[in-house]
Amino acid sequence: MNDTIHESSETHSSNAAGGRSAGAGRLVVVSNRVANPDQLQTGGLATALRAALAARGGIWFGWSGQTVADGCEPQLHREERGNVVFATMDLHESDLEGYYANFANRVLWPLFHYRLDLVEYHRDTYASYQAVNRCFAERLALLIRPDDIIWIHDYHLIPLAGHLRRLGFNNRIGFFLHTPLAPEELLRTLPPHRELIGALQYYDLVGLQSGEDLRALREYFTQTLSARLQSDGALHMPDGRVFQAAVFPISIDTRAIVEYAEKAAGLPAMQRMRSSLSGRALMIGVDRLDYSKGLPGRFEAFACMLEHHPELRNRVTLLQIAPPSRSQVPEYQQLRVVLEQAAGHINGQYAEPDWIPIRYVNKSFSQRRLAGFYRIAQVAVVTPLRDGMNLVAKEFVACQAPEDPGVLILSRFAGAAAELDAALRVNPYDQDEMAETMARALQMSLSERRSRWRSMMDHLCNNDVNHWLERFLARLDASEPDGDLATDPDFLPATPATGQFAQPYT
Ligand code: UDP
Repeated sequence: MNDTIHESSETHSSNAAGGRSAGAGRLVVVSNRVANPDQLQTGGLATALRAALAARGGIWFGWSGQTVADGCEPQLHREERGNVVFATMDLHESDLEGYYANFANRVLWPLFHYRLDLVEYHRDTYASYQAVNRCFAERLALLIRPDDIIWIHDYHLIPLAGHLRRLGFNNRIGFFLHTPLAPEELLRTLPPHRELIGALQYYDLVGLQSGEDLRALREYFTQTLSARLQSDGALHMPDGRVFQAAVFPISIDTRAIVEYAEKAAGLPAMQRMRSSLSGRALMIGVDRLDYSKGLPGRFEAFACMLEHHPELRNRVTLLQIAPPSRSQVPEYQQLRVVLEQAAGHINGQYAEPDWIPIRYVNKSFSQRRLAGFYRIAQVAVVTPLRDGMNLVAKEFVACQAPEDPGVLILSRFAGAAAELDAALRVNPYDQDEMAETMARALQMSLSERRSRWRSMMDHLCNNDVNHWLERFLARLDASEPDGDLATDPDFLPATPATGQFAQPYT
C-alpha cells in the first residue's frame, strides 16, 4: 500500500497546545531518510528503531527520496506495516539542493567535523534548510497525537522541534545528534548560530555521542546564550525554559554482528579472499569516502610503515573499502582523485609482481560480507580526523574470533575511543605514530590481543544498540514537561499553522 495521505483524515487540531500526558504514547521517529518498510534490515540502528516502533506503535517520518518541480505540490506518502506507519514527503527540487546538498552537507557537516576551511555558508541555502524543516513540521502536525513521544535524528533536522512548538505542540521531543558537535568558538562562526544551535533548547532531551560533544553544547549555551547549568545537568535558559542534554554513545547490534561473522566464515567469497592473500596478513579499513575519515593520512602512514619496516613488505595487504558518498559535492570528488593518486603512487613504489600493497575498492558491501572480511583481518585501521562514533570500529571488534582476535587501531578523535579504551589509540595527524602502531599491531602477541579484545567485547555485549535506544527513550519518557510555549507571547515569531506548504524564509 502506498497512498497519499489525505490531510484531513489524521488532523488532530485539538492536539496543538494540548496538555502533555506522562508515560508511553506512540513513538514518532523523524529522520532525513526513512527505512524501506519492505527491505530486510541487516542489524543496527534501523532494525532497533523498527523494533521500538513496533513495540509502542508509531510513525517513522522523513523525506521520500523524491523531488517535485518547484511550483508543484509535494506529496505525502504513507505505508502501513502492522502498527507502524511509514510516512514520507517529497521535497521541492530547489529546496533539496539548498537543504541537503548545501546547508546540511557543506555547512553543518564540515563545521561539526571541525573543518571550517570547507564550510560554504550562503543565506539562501540556510533559508531552504529552514523551509524544509518547517514543511516537515507542518506535515508532521497532521499525524501526531498529544501523548506521542517524538524522536528527531541528526543535523538535517535541528530546527524541527522549534517549528513544532511554534505550531503549538507540547509533546515530549528528543533529539539525537549522530555527528560530533564542534566547540563553542567554531559554532560561533556560523552566522545564524543563535537561531540554529539555540533551537536545540526546544527539545526536552538532546542526546550526544560523547562527553566532548556534551561539553561543547554546555559551553555554547552557558557562554553564548547565558544559560545556567543546573546541578542535575539540565540547561536553564534566561527565559525560564529548561532542557536536558546527556551522552548516549550509539552502538551496534552486537549479537547480530557476531552471528554474521560466524556465518560468513564459510562463504566462498571469504575462501577466495583468504587464498588471494597467500598467507599474508590483512589490514582493513572500511569508510565512506569522506574527508573526515582521514584516508589520505592513513595511506601515507601505511607507506611510511613499509618504508621503515622492510621486513613487513610483501607480508601485509591493506584492503581499503571506501564506497563513494555525496559525490555531487566538489570536496568529495577531489578526495577521490587524491586517494586514487596516493594508492597508485604507493603501489607503484612498493608492489612486487605477486603483491599489491593497497587494494583500494570504491564500492559498498553488505554488513554480512564486511563481517567476513573483518574476521579474516589481523588489524583494522579506523583513523578518522573526527567522527561522531564510528560503528565500523565496534563492528570489527564484534567480528573477531575469541581464540585469535585481531587488533583495532583507533583514532583518539572518534567517539568510539572513549569506550574502546583497549584499542591501540592513535593521533591521526601523526603519520609516524600511525605507522609505528600499524607495525606494532601486526606483531602483537596472542595474549595481548586476547586481553585487549576481551575488555572491548565485554563492553559491546553490555552496551549494544538496543541498550542505547532504551536508555534514550526512558530518559525522554521521564523528562519534565515545561511551559506551554504555544501560548507564550515571547516565543519566536509565530509562523501560522496553515496546513499548507510554507514559502522559504526570506
Ligand atoms: N557499511 C556498509 N557497507 C559498506 C561500508 C559501510 O554496510 O560498504 C556500514 C558499516 O558496517 C557501518 C556504517 O556503514 O555500520 C558506517 O557507520 P560509521 O559510524 O562507521 O560511519 P558513517 O558512515 O556513519 O560516518
